[in-house]
Amino acid sequence: MNQKHVVVIGSGFAGLSSATHLAEQSCKVTLLEKNETPGGRARKFEYQGFVFDMGPSWYWMPDVFEDYFAHFGKKVSDYYDLIRLDPSYAVIYGENDQLDIPADLEEFKKMLEEIETGAGGQLDKFLEQAKYKYQVGIHDLVKKPSRSLMEFASPGLLLDVIKMDVFQSMSKHVRKFFKSEKIIRLMEFPVLFLGETAENIPALYSLMNYADIALGTWYPKKGMHEIIRGMVELAEDKGVSIRYNAEVEEIEIENGVAKRVRLLSGEKIEADVIVAGADYHHVDKHLVNPQYSNYSEEYWDKRVLAPSSLLFYLGIDKKLQNLRHHNLFFDEDLGPHADAIYRNPEWPEKPLFYASVPSQTDPTVAPEGMENMFLLIPLAPDLEDSEEMREKYFHIIMDRLEKITGQEIRSHIVFKRSYAHADFKKDYHAYKGNAYGLANTLTQTAILKPSLKNKKVNNLYYTGQLTVPGPGVPPSLISGYVVAKEVIKDHNLSQKM
Ligand SMILES: Cc1cc2nc3c(=O)[nH]c(=O)nc-3n(C[C@H](O)[C@H](O)[C@H](O)COP(=O)(O)OP(=O)(O)OC[C@H]3O[C@@H](n4cnc5c(N)ncnc54)[C@H](O)[C@@H]3O)c2cc1C
Repeated sequence: MNQKHVVVIGSGFAGLSSATHLAEQSCKVTLLEKNETPGGRARKFEYQGFVFDMGPSWYWMPDVFEDYFAHFGKKVSDYYDLIRLDPSYAVIYGENDQLDIPADLEEFKKMLEEIETGAGGQLDKFLEQAKYKYQVGIHDLVKKPSRSLMEFASPGLLLDVIKMDVFQSMSKHVRKFFKSEKIIRLMEFPVLFLGETAENIPALYSLMNYADIALGTWYPKKGMHEIIRGMVELAEDKGVSIRYNAEVEEIEIENGVAKRVRLLSGEKIEADVIVAGADYHHVDKHLVNPQYSNYSEEYWDKRVLAPSSLLFYLGIDKKLQNLRHHNLFFDEDLGPHADAIYRNPEWPEKPLFYASVPSQTDPTVAPEGMENMFLLIPLAPDLEDSEEMREKYFHIIMDRLEKITGQEIRSHIVFKRSYAHADFKKDYHAYKGNAYGLANTLTQTAILKPSLKNKKVNNLYYTGQLTVPGPGVPPSLISGYVVAKEVIKDHNLSQKM
């Protein structure tokens, strides 16, 4: 067979996944990455013994990663070692008011029972439904390319869609089972990963609670970037040629056929098929001639983006007390902060935040006796991003962090780097400086998401967190698989998938 040359743009999870799946199908694959290292939003950087994961820190849905490597006859353990965290994470409601979420289900139920009588039994019922949603959702629905409603038009699947509470909000769903505000916040937390609040996320996504409570929170030893390292090793084993510092400036299209990419350097690379794993808006509005764009600027402006974030990477010259590996600071009301993200975009007055201290689990990510800390404040996309605002918010959350955990932190900082909107734009061409792509609201689910294929150019595809199935590491891995399958099908390439 005439070997097809596929050019993949971007070495994030989705780009690496699609490239490796396509190489497995005997395509010649060239992967082009603008930055000097792989991983996109999941890159890492190092500073004098500190190793910082730049983006994702929660490893959920271990079966999705296992499935990924199994496609190639491999196992996760061939590439990195996983630890199950226990407690999974801590939720901090205020001073001396903290829940450590046990990994063990029976202990977790006992904890809920102490907060609300009957909540343990209710959790069983809640999880029974959530498990069903997870099984159908993650092993079937998310793997649909969502190019046509017909994909969902089987009686069994339609019944599933109804059973899976697609039309009810997560917020209402949780309140059917639990009354305590504390438990409700706990149960609503996982959907924040999907880029909206529980009021606007379909109850289908209680599957995230199943992932959280039943499947657990894991951590790859030496950091999340180990997943990227493993994926790059596998991609190269399969023959993918990866080029760094290779920014694509244009996808050249002639008579409705994508012919080649032109790099910033001027070099041109011919292609039979192009898969764009860079931010969808950037590709659609900046890399292709406007006549071939899938969507208008108005369309993009109306999308509900998942939040951007203000991040801090900190090196601390002592061991910290009263902090776990993952710490969610819910010591302020979520409502006003959510309004400041979604309804009236502005810097929030009293932000909620997340602190990760991976060196509590893993001594390799900080020098001996020191701590590696990552702070994250979710923010509306496209806010004014200045050094003054970053500093102001650093001190707002540090005041609370130091008070609640009862220790001085600021005077022990030996390394500090901030990261926000302007960096997301510069490093990833992120539309409005988004961190996590598009929110998984009902009107942005499945066929209502930006399509994974260009409507006018038969050999141009999109993958990643702005198309199906959505934001997050597991969905991005699946997105790469789904798009590779479509390429193979549409272009009559070999059919091993
Ligand atoms: C701070 C943060 C925390 C997160 N936490 C979690 C978490 O805990 N758990 C979880 O599951 N998910 C988390 N996520 C989400 C998850 O990281 C993303 O959904 C996922 O990494 C997106 O992968 P992607 O391949 O779609 O995009 P990206 O990682 O953005 O990859 C796109 C790539 O394209 C490259 N590119 C862009 N333009 C060009 C061009 N013109 N030419 C060549 N290359 C180009 C970019 O440099 C980039 O490498 C987090 C994200 C962030 C930002």
